[in-house]
Amino acid sequence: MKKHNFSAGPSILPQYTFEETAKAVMNFNNMGLSIMEISHRSKDFEAVVNEAVALFKELLSIPEGYSVIFLGGGASMQFCMVPYNLLEKKAAYLNTGVWASKAIKEAKYFGEVVEVASSKDANFNYIPRNFTIPADADYFHITTNNTIYGTELKEDLTSPVPLVADMSSDIFSRPVDVKKYGLIYGGAQKNLGPAGVAFVIIRNDILGKVSRPIPSMLNYQLHIENNSLYNTPPVLPIYSSLLTLRWLKEQGGVQAMQKRNHEKAALLYEEIERNRLFKPTVPKKEDRSVMNVCWVMEEQYKDLEQEFLSFAQSRGMVGIKGHRSVGGFRASLYNALPIESVKALIETMQEFEKMKAK
Ligand SMILES: *Cc1c(COP(=O)(O)O)cnc(C)c1O
Repeated sequence: MKKHNFSAGPSILPQYTFEETAKAVMNFNNMGLSIMEISHRSKDFEAVVNEAVALFKELLSIPEGYSVIFLGGGASMQFCMVPYNLLEKKAAYLNTGVWASKAIKEAKYFGEVVEVASSKDANFNYIPRNFTIPADADYFHITTNNTIYGTELKEDLTSPVPLVADMSSDIFSRPVDVKKYGLIYGGAQKNLGPAGVAFVIIRNDILGKVSRPIPSMLNYQLHIENNSLYNTPPVLPIYSSLLTLRWLKEQGGVQAMQKRNHEKAALLYEEIERNRLFKPTVPKKEDRSVMNVCWVMEEQYKDLEQEFLSFAQSRGMVGIKGHRSVGGFRASLYNALPIESVKALIETMQEFEKMKAK
């Protein structure tokens, strides 16, 4: 049976990425060698890093004065690298969920942290809107897409201090006005490549302002100077990410992705609202994520949750169980997920409604 993969991460990637990665594992660039057994300092691999950086810059229209690097340690490592490199006295954070809270926890090791607003009072089911960013903060940190709760901050904020964004689960899903950001980071495993690599986009002039010494491996400047090759980087995840970037370009780039993602999300949210068994978990439409759609059973059908999960599974739906802190269901509609999968999920929901709705 055809599987429809709605997993939140690691998650679906383009078929092209899977196939070309498999080929490179067996025979990279017709060298008669696996990409896993060649030097990261070889010309062939350096070309991979350079093309990946160039495609990042092209696809996101990254202006002059920014660097792009690839690092190990996932997005969670960035929760500590950001304050290590940028926090001298005080940093501001917007608390929109578990990931934001983890970032806040790490920042507190390095200085004062001001939480400008939080949506914790409603289990993070909205994006706080009215807050003031302290003008004397070293930076302001946001999480643009809250993977667990299905909320998304879809506009690029204007900040009086460098804006730092965790875009792990919405990078390349829409155009981003990069010049409004000081730093953008994310783990690859949602919309870009396999787990094991994180990307960081940095405006060069925000670095070099903290007085503490920074250990080499945690120092952005050092990784920039070494073009992500200071030590052995996650070679295969970087290569797979490059393949996804090539696919993205070929598909029409982030504009095309945004259009497609909006179509997918609109169809699914419409069905959740229409279907008598279900309701969305994020009340405000403008806060609803285009990438991660969360919903639950209507109150009177609550006992049917497990049954719907089994029914959906029997129809080939994978990964729609909601995160334990929200419950219910979550469908992740990353770039590589075809609209046919969304339609198959909707049909499944409709069939279940016919069977169960009173
Ligand atoms: C998945 C995720 C993370 C954690 O990523 P790791 O690479 O596992 O550290 C952080 N932030 C957001 C928004 C995520 O979706």
